[in-house]
Amino acid sequence: MKKILSLIFLLICSYSCIKQNNTELNAEVQDHEAYVLRPKLVVGIVIDQMRYDYLTRFYSKYGDGGFKRLVKEGFNCKNNHYNYVPTYTGPGHTSIYTGTTPKYHGIISNEWYDKEIKNTVYCAGDSTVQSVGTLSAAGQMSPHRMLTTTFADENRLFTQMRGKTVGISIKDRGAILPAGHTANAAYWFYGEQEGLWITSTFYTNELPDWVDEFNNSNKVESYFKVWNTLYDIKTYTESGSDLNNFEGIYNGKETATFPYDLMTLKDKNRNFEILKVTPYGNSITTDFAIAALDGEELGQDNTTDVFTVSFSSTDYVGHYFGVNSKEIEDTYIRMDKDLERLLNALDSKVGEGEYTVFLTADHGAVNVPSYLQSLKIPSGYINSVTSRQQLNDFMFKTFKSKNLIENVSNNQVFLNKEAITQLRLNVKEVQEAIANELINHEFVDKVYTASAMSSTSFNHGVELLLQNGFNQKRSGDVLVVYDPAVISYSKTGSTHGSALNYDTHVPLIFFGKGINHGSTVQKTYITDIAPTISSLLGISFPNGATGKPLEKVLRYN
Ligand code: ZN
Ligand code: ZN
Ligand code: ZN
Repeated sequence: MKKILSLIFLLICSYSCIKQNNTELNAEVQDHEAYVLRPKLVVGIVIDQMRYDYLTRFYSKYGDGGFKRLVKEGFNCKNNHYNYVPTYTGPGHTSIYTGTTPKYHGIISNEWYDKEIKNTVYCAGDSTVQSVGTLSAAGQMSPHRMLTTTFADENRLFTQMRGKTVGISIKDRGAILPAGHTANAAYWFYGEQEGLWITSTFYTNELPDWVDEFNNSNKVESYFKVWNTLYDIKTYTESGSDLNNFEGIYNGKETATFPYDLMTLKDKNRNFEILKVTPYGNSITTDFAIAALDGEELGQDNTTDVFTVSFSSTDYVGHYFGVNSKEIEDTYIRMDKDLERLLNALDSKVGEGEYTVFLTADHGAVNVPSYLQSLKIPSGYINSVTSRQQLNDFMFKTFKSKNLIENVSNNQVFLNKEAITQLRLNVKEVQEAIANELINHEFVDKVYTASAMSSTSFNHGVELLLQNGFNQKRSGDVLVVYDPAVISYSKTGSTHGSALNYDTHVPLIFFGKGINHGSTVQKTYITDIAPTISSLLGISFPNGATGKPLEKVLRYN
């Protein structure tokens, strides 16, 4: 009896305790669960050159296990944008994982003119390291030009280096920059005559056995087959006709039309390089990613690992055939199948609900301007040779000098500071004179000087995007913005790089452990991804992060 009484007393007491400290207790439970809810693996998926509307335009063609699964079970940020220019692959991948823009992370383009060494440098190039897995120079790469940390770096620091990071992509920069400075491994694909996954001595001195096995498995060669549309081409009603004037043509083909017999075309198209410009480049990446889950033992314990996977062939196909091509439609239908394969592998190897995925793109792409012109939409092509000549003539006429301009690249003019000093000119005045000249050039919409970028704080419009992309130490002296849909490119295929919506608007979907189901059309930015994942993991933000966690996305925040 005494026992029962004390039990009742205890129950009443704890009940009132719960009532009194309800909020406190809930917070405690949530804190506790937030810790427990750390996923075993974070998988960052970047689809190179994926416009937001590829999700919606081809939606009816997608199966249930790929893009649709992410949308139906995850959180879809429908109005997600890049907030800087230029919208290129190197800066894109870096911004996704560092949560900031070139202004801070320093990857101002894929390659740029280095003012100090007076030469062009590549964003992931590193002559101090050696290739591993190839005799070519394709492995001389590292993330050393990236100035800030990625969330993968912060996860490594947080877990006392126990949480692993592995990055893979056909493109070296797509594998190296996301994985960060402390990655355990990064692998990229070397095509040409070899067709191998390789790395650099920055990570290791020899390829692990599982990579050697993959390289020796004949898997890559098996994709030298006929590329035809996955479904009947007549059902591809979401893209233009297969035969048109806006598509690049493989060497050895008369027209850019299906089917493409890759076995016979490979000799005239640099052998393994042709696979990159087909959906099979993404299938090879998927095969390798699935092999990496086992090979690198990712997500196998309770310490969170980070796996970064970038699919590059969507970009090669877009550059070759354009945004509106049947080839791009088929590439996305097949991308969806590869995504399904990867998600299924994660389910079985890591466990459904044990991992967290985000999927986004490193930039979008413009419709082929010659196609837009045929529809009377303002667009065009810059002739960079005549434009440069026009600028040179102006410089000579105005300053009586031929060597005041050191370099023109990435829509920026780099001045020769020594020559300016010798002629006793003022840098700011020379910048302004060039800006006043360039604004008269055909297709030039706006021109800004580095002095303006450094002395004014912009808070909206293209000026803000330019400023977020402007790194005082690395960027040029004059910045040029071209009219919408005006590019410096061939008359066939699509490209990207601008501050316009077709380049900035990309998908962003979160899925899996710790992620709410839902969607938003409120504007989100690419720089919000890394802070969101950092919040999910309860780790420090990347050291230069300027974005903010997306509160609605996280289930326990
Ligand atoms: Zn890209
Ligand atoms: Zn075609
Ligand atoms: Zn591209």
